[in-house]
Parts: sequence; structure tokens; C-alpha cells
Amino acid sequence: MNPIRIEKSTQLKPKPEQQSLGFGKHFTDHMFLMDYSSDEGWHDARIVPYGPLELDPASMVFHYGQAVFEGLKAYRSVDEQILLFRPDKNAQRINHSSTRISIPPIDEAFFVEALQTLIRVEADWIPSMEGTSLYIRPFIIATEAALGVRSSDHYLFAIILSPGGAYYEEGLKPIRIFVDNHYVRAVQGGTGHAKTPGNYASSLKGQMEAKEQHNCSQVLWLDGIERTYIEEVGSMNVFFKINGEVITPELNGSILEGITRNSVIHLLREWGIHVSERKISIDEIMRASDDGLLEEVFGTGTAAVISPVGGLFWNNRDIVINEGITGACSQKLYDTLTGIQYGKVQDKWGWTVKC
Ligand SMILES: *Cc1c(COP(=O)(O)O)cnc(C)c1O
Repeated sequence: MNPIRIEKSTQLKPKPEQQSLGFGKHFTDHMFLMDYSSDEGWHDARIVPYGPLELDPASMVFHYGQAVFEGLKAYRSVDEQILLFRPDKNAQRINHSSTRISIPPIDEAFFVEALQTLIRVEADWIPSMEGTSLYIRPFIIATEAALGVRSSDHYLFAIILSPGGAYYEEGLKPIRIFVDNHYVRAVQGGTGHAKTPGNYASSLKGQMEAKEQHNCSQVLWLDGIERTYIEEVGSMNVFFKINGEVITPELNGSILEGITRNSVIHLLREWGIHVSERKISIDEIMRASDDGLLEEVFGTGTAAVISPVGGLFWNNRDIVINEGITGACSQKLYDTLTGIQYGKVQDKWGWTVKC
């Protein structure tokens, strides 16, 4: 792989206030770009001033949606290092997604090196206030100008960075979720296991209706065929603690394989908690709730890390979980994972990578 050329911006932007960063609203001074052509492969890796991309209106991504992305964060650790959390997993996953969407793979070690190089250039943008981080968004789009339906011969790989505020400002806050019987997110054989924009596009309407009609902040997606088995919650993986056991839907081809999901399973097993990856139906959840055995429900993903679920709304039934407060298991997972990410908990798992 060719070296990364760096062209520094001459006009640096003022940094936003750390108290009001929000999510995905501010972007740093530089971005990473690399092109692909079927003749040359991936080439011209470069870090350049952040700015608009110039694309032909016939670029295939606009018409047939060939695109994949990733999401991870850089954390300023308590001892002033810059840490990434399992970036090798994001490298593997972007290639897994690309394979499904017919996009050529990127060398995984180079993917991590590209992240690290860009972050080092933008180190001043990593906020330091408690709970803040620098969100990293790598993505690939099809750029060949052609309207024939086939996979593109040209692609652009880009990485952009966005300083983000603390997800929870006052501790974990349980959310109420709507179990959708109508819309589905993905089906087996489709693209649910790939991190691709189309999955998000198709989930927006259900999310919006859950909010407007049922005052629920997220949707719990059921399987696309029987509308019976649990898949994911919003854009997070989901876990249920029932009578001491933790259950999460198995990776069946329509569920995204979360890195937080993988880390949570690992930690729970280490703590001696039994974790099952299997099919779990909405009826089983309702029965567990009726029997007083549904102890905790939580979502997992890079953005929130752990998102406790305090209530479920399904077929006009409104159930409350753990009296609507954060469970002990959810809290311990959150504290441990964020502890590792910010260098407060010694990383005996080898999950953090320095920049
Ligand atoms: C990214 C994503 C997740 C969470 O993955 P993490 O690697 O834990 O951030 C879960 N579900 C969907 C649909 C996603 O796109």
C-alpha cells in the first residue's frame, strides 16, 4: 500500500465548545480519502483539508446505493493517551459489509493505519470533558458515472471525524421502545448483516412513527418473515436478562454483528453469567414479564455503549422493565466498557489500541 500523503489545511476552524458538542454536528479540519479503480486497485491515499466532494451526478452511489460505513470513537484517556476500541474489528466488518454490497475490500491493517494517521493529525480535536470523544466515520461509496445496473468500477473510501459530547449527561437513562409489527428492518438473505445505508433508509419511517404515535424513542425490530423473533433495537443489538440468564438474538444473517455486542458477551461470560445466543420471540419476553422474570433489557452499540430499556410497547400492551430504572448488569457493563475505553480500567483484554 502506498504511503499516505498529507496536505495540511491553511485555514483551521475554531473548535466548538465542549459543553454543547452534541452528536455529528461538527467536523474537523481534515479528511482521509483514497480512490479505487478496477485498473489500479486502491490508490492515492491522502489526508486533505475537510470539504465538499465533487461527484458526477451519475455516480452510481446516488442511483443504486452501493455504499458501506463504519462507526467508532477515539477517546482521550485519563493518562492523556489517544485510544481506539477494537479498531481491527471495524476493519474486518467494513470488508464483511463490502463483500455483501460488491465493493472491493481494503487491507485491514491499512484501514487501522489510515484511522490512526488522520486522528494524529486532528489530535487537538479530541475533546477532554468526561464522556466526550471523537467520532470516526469511515465510509465507501461507488463513484463510477454510469447508469447501468451492475457494480461500480470506481469507489471512494473516506474517513471523517466529528467531536461528540457525552451520550448521557446525567447517568444512564432507560428508554421506552416500540415493538414494530408492521415495518421490518431486514430479512435473511438481504443486507441486514452489512453496515450499509439502505438498512437505515428503510428503518426511518418506522422510527418516526414510533416517536410520533407512541412516544417511543426507538423501534424493536422483529424478524421479517414471521414477525415473531427479536432482531435489534433501533441501530443497536439487544439483550434480555431473564431469570438470571442473558439472551441475545443469534447472528442469523439479518442482524448486524456489533462490536459492543461481542464485547458484552465476552464480559458477561467472564463474570460467570450464562449468555445464550439464540432465537427469542416477543411472546417469550411478554411471558417472562408476566411471570416477573424479565429483569433487564438493554441495547448495545458504539454511540450509547449500553442503552437500558425501561419499557416496551407491543400490541397495545405497555410493559415496564425493572421499574423503569437501570439494572445492575447494564450499569456494570457500561462502567466496565467505558472504563476500558477511557483507560480507567486496566485493559487485560487487549481491546484498546493507541493512536
Ligand atoms: C453499527 C450497528 C450496531 C452496533 O454495532 P457496534 O459495533 O456495537 O457499534 C448495531 N446494529 C446496527 C444495525 C448497526 O448499524
